Amino acid sequence: MNSRLAQFGSSVFAEMTALARAHHAVNLGQGFPDFDTPAEVKEIAMRAIADGHNQYAVSHGEPVLRAALAEHAERFYNQPLNPDENICVTSGASEALWCAIQACINPGDEVIVFEPSFDVYIPNIVMAGGVVVPVTLHAPSFRFNREELRAAFSKRTRLLILNTPHNPTGTVFTRDEIEFIRDLCAEYGALVISDEVYEHIVFAPNAHIRPATIEGMGERTITISSGGKTFSCTGWKCGWALGTKPLIDAVRRVHQFTVFAGATPFHYAIAHALRLTDSFYMQLLSDYTRRKDMLLAALRQTPLHIHEPEGAYFITADISPLTTDDGITFSKRMITEIGVATIPSQKFYVNEEHGRSLIRFCFCKKDETLNKAAERMLSLSSL
Ligand code: PMP
Ligand code: GLN
Repeated sequence: MNSRLAQFGSSVFAEMTALARAHHAVNLGQGFPDFDTPAEVKEIAMRAIADGHNQYAVSHGEPVLRAALAEHAERFYNQPLNPDENICVTSGASEALWCAIQACINPGDEVIVFEPSFDVYIPNIVMAGGVVVPVTLHAPSFRFNREELRAAFSKRTRLLILNTPHNPTGTVFTRDEIEFIRDLCAEYGALVISDEVYEHIVFAPNAHIRPATIEGMGERTITISSGGKTFSCTGWKCGWALGTKPLIDAVRRVHQFTVFAGATPFHYAIAHALRLTDSFYMQLLSDYTRRKDMLLAALRQTPLHIHEPEGAYFITADISPLTTDDGITFSKRMITEIGVATIPSQKFYVNEEHGRSLIRFCFCKKDETLNKAAERMLSLSSL
């Protein structure tokens, strides 16, 4: 095994989902909806297969999807994109992240990552030969300290990875915070990857700001998103990278020699989905607001200390009022003893000690699933 790989264990998501299945636990761990993709979107995927869209897609994405992505960016963010130059469709946001990180850094370059962080960033940076420089989003508000961020920059800083709304904390970065990040990136000549897969799940009064649309950010930012969360089809793995022509040319170079192209029928279905009416997007948010409030209410019945998210579909809880166990031990006990699966957030930290008492619950679940978890969690204090 390549020595860079040897340091990574198995994905915490695969591990906790396997344990949850083995114990028939209610799975509030790995973030995937247990409700289905909208019927009309599934219909388009099936029709695309029936109509013979079954061979390789255009490497950087079928024209219909790139046109829909440009319309979507204009409609929601007033962001002008040329479908031929500014878009690369990928196999999920995960592949877009891989390609963008490979495209941006040389071995030895430093990459600033806010921690806790979604688990693929750090292995991707290390596999590209980069050096991870973590900056902590501090509990209880999970925001960064400006002096700490400034101190993380050096003349070797090449890239900063931003994730808004943020997994796992639900932090939505404000305009002021993004402008502060922009000024530092401009001063040090750093690029930005902005992972926005939860862009349509932001709870009032918070609002999603697309960093690339802030003055001075467009030329240095690769925006990444995917259809999985917005259209409840995480298994379709249809994502994309957006940015200036030189940045997207670089992403396309990696993409063409990684997977060459994504799964063709889903390009048609996601193109249709992106063009759904405003009422679809409003319903999505009101459903997620209800699910968040249900899980918050259930968790507030327990001794855990709860952090209310501004966006995304996760709630972070501090287990220290209940136990001296670390999150890994405690979340395994929750599965085996009360039948509810979560994710230990310490896996999202470079120094796991920093997240030792934090666990993450997801609420992308049917009301009945959330109710079942709530019932089981009534016995949490006896753990
Ligand atoms: N980024 C974040 C922050 C995520 O939570 C996820 C989770 N799915 C991804 C990227 C990967 O998205 P995809 O499933 O489209 O590859
Ligand atoms: N994004 C999902 C989560 O954070 C899972 C992604 C994965 O399984 N790699 O739960």
